Amino acid sequence: MKNIAVLTSGGDAPGMNAAIRAVTRSALAKRVSVHGVRQGYAGLIGGNLRPLGARDVGGIIQQGGTILGSARCPEFTTEEGRLRALRSLRQNDIDGLVVIGGNGSQTGAHALWEMGFPVVGVASTIDNDLYGSEITLGVDTALNIALEATDRLKVTAASHQRAFLIEVMGRDCGYLALNVGIAAGAEAIVIPEVETAPEEVAEEVRAAYERGKSHAMVVVAEGATYNASRLEQYFHENRKRLGFEIRTTILGHVQRGGVPSAFDRLLASRLGAAAAEQLIDSEPGVLMGILNGKVSATPLTDVVQSTKRTDPHLWQMARILAR
Ligand code: ADP
Repeated sequence: MKNIAVLTSGGDAPGMNAAIRAVTRSALAKRVSVHGVRQGYAGLIGGNLRPLGARDVGGIIQQGGTILGSARCPEFTTEEGRLRALRSLRQNDIDGLVVIGGNGSQTGAHALWEMGFPVVGVASTIDNDLYGSEITLGVDTALNIALEATDRLKVTAASHQRAFLIEVMGRDCGYLALNVGIAAGAEAIVIPEVETAPEEVAEEVRAAYERGKSHAMVVVAEGATYNASRLEQYFHENRKRLGFEIRTTILGHVQRGGVPSAFDRLLASRLGAAAAEQLIDSEPGVLMGILNGKVSATPLTDVVQSTKRTDPHLWQMARILAR
């Protein structure tokens, strides 16, 4: 292999830049040149590639987001789109590709691999919903940002004897909500994996006040059936009967853009270096992630066919710890 490319795709995650840096410098150390692809699969289809040298990836390890840009590219989900991407890879003499991204991006990587192109993935998503890695790039930073915001709201909640609803990211997976909830000591946690009716949430809040608490914090994942806006509507419509009101804060994209934590920079460095090594010296068609604390390669075929779910036992534990 003489020339590889690297791209970031889907939702951006803190640590992507550190991974780009690690892929680039590890490949260069093996005398393999590197191209950066702009805007994920869209840049691949449009031939938007440029050479990356060691200095081009300098000063980015501490930056959130991605210097290459990311995008959602519906065209790549079609065979025609992927054939165009393959053509531009060949035109630029690229022999292999590293895809830094989440579930959708790794599904795209798998599709390219199935068409015979050497690809290696790096597990990167703040949702932590990717099979093949216990922890993914960006989760630690997003968790700490959401936790800091929740801690601050708790101070206000306690001062005013209020109930607060905090919505964190997580479309199909409650990992962030559950872990923020446990770490912040939330009175109730609402995640997609555990169906929770609004009456049950109201009961938890009421019971918290009865136990003598001066506040009640409810952390909810955006993908839960009863997300923040539906819960807010329920609480508003029933405020007289319930005897309390609830204030809502949707954290949204502030969770994504943070300065990557030490953990995410280290994870990105390890996974990025391993991805370059795997692509150049070993077997492609895999996702680089962390399993049992070690950098591990999982076939992309297994990654796209399997689902990682949040442990419901932790949800039970959180209820007990919030008593
Ligand atoms: P994430 O990687 O963060 O989960 P998305 O789900 O938006 O983000 O996926 C990112 C991109 O990956 C999509 O815009 C599309 O280009 C590509 N992709 C997603 N699903 C597929 C698929 N089934 N086949 C091919 N490419 C896909």
